[in-house]
Amino acid sequence: MKEQLALLRELQNIDLELDELEERKEEIQSRLDENKSFLTKLESDLEEQRDELEEVKSLRREKRRELDELEQELERRQEKLHEVETANEYDAVEKEIEVISEDIEETEEEVEHLGEVIEDTENSVEDKEDKILQLREGIAKEEEEAEAKLAELDEEMQQLNERQEEAREEVSERVLRRYDFIRSRSDGPAIAPAKDEHCEQCFMAIPPQKYIELQRGDDLVTCSSCQAILYYYEDAEDYEEDEAEA
Ligand SMILES: [Zn+2]
Repeated sequence: MKEQLALLRELQNIDLELDELEERKEEIQSRLDENKSFLTKLESDLEEQRDELEEVKSLRREKRRELDELEQELERRQEKLHEVETANEYDAVEKEIEVISEDIEETEEEVEHLGEVIEDTENSVEDKEDKILQLREGIAKEEEEAEAKLAELDEEMQQLNERQEEAREEVSERVLRRYDFIRSRSDGPAIAPAKDEHCEQCFMAIPPQKYIELQRGDDLVTCSSCQAILYYYEDAEDYEEDEAEA
C-alpha cells in the first residue's frame, strides 16, 4: 500500500499541475473576453452618439427651414404694410410683424444652440473613434500574445496528460477509483498527509487505532472528515529521500 500511495502522490502532483494550467488558460481567455466586451460597449456607444448627431442635424435643418419661412412671411407683411389703407389695418400688420420678428430671433437662437451641440457631439464622436482604434490595436496585440501563451500551455498540458496516463497505469484500480471519486467531489487534494494523529488537510484528529493502521500501511485509510486518502508523512519523506538518491 505504501508504494501505491507514493504513486498516487505523484499522480496528484500531475493532476494539480494540470488543474493550475487549466485555470491559467481560463484566466487568459476571460481577460480576452473582457477586453472584447469593453470594445463592443464602446462601439455601441459610438453608434448611439452618431445616431444622436444625425438627429440633431436633422432638427437643425428643420429649424433652418422654419427660419426661411418666417423670413418670407416677414417680407410679405412688410410689403403688405405699404398697401394698407386704414390706421387700424396698419397697426394690425405692424403687430404681426413684431410677433414674426420675435419668432425669427428665437429660432435663430435655437439654430445657433443646435450648432454648438453638433460641434460638441462631433468632437466626442472623434474622441471615441480614436479610442476605439487604439483599443482595437491593443486587443489585437494582446490576442497574439495570448494565443502564443495558450499554445504553450496546451503543449505543457499534453506532456502532463501523457505523464498522467503513465501514472494512472501504475496505480491499482481500487485506489484509483477512490482517488477519482474524491477528486470529483471536492476541490481540495484527494490525498493528504497525516501527522501527529491529525489529517494535515483538514486538521481533524485521527483515532489512534486508525493512525496505527495508517503507519502500518496495510490498507487504504481515509480521513472521516474531509474524505482524503491519508498517507503517513514519514513515508512520504522516506520516499522523497530515496527518489533524491536514485
Ligand atoms: Zn481530513
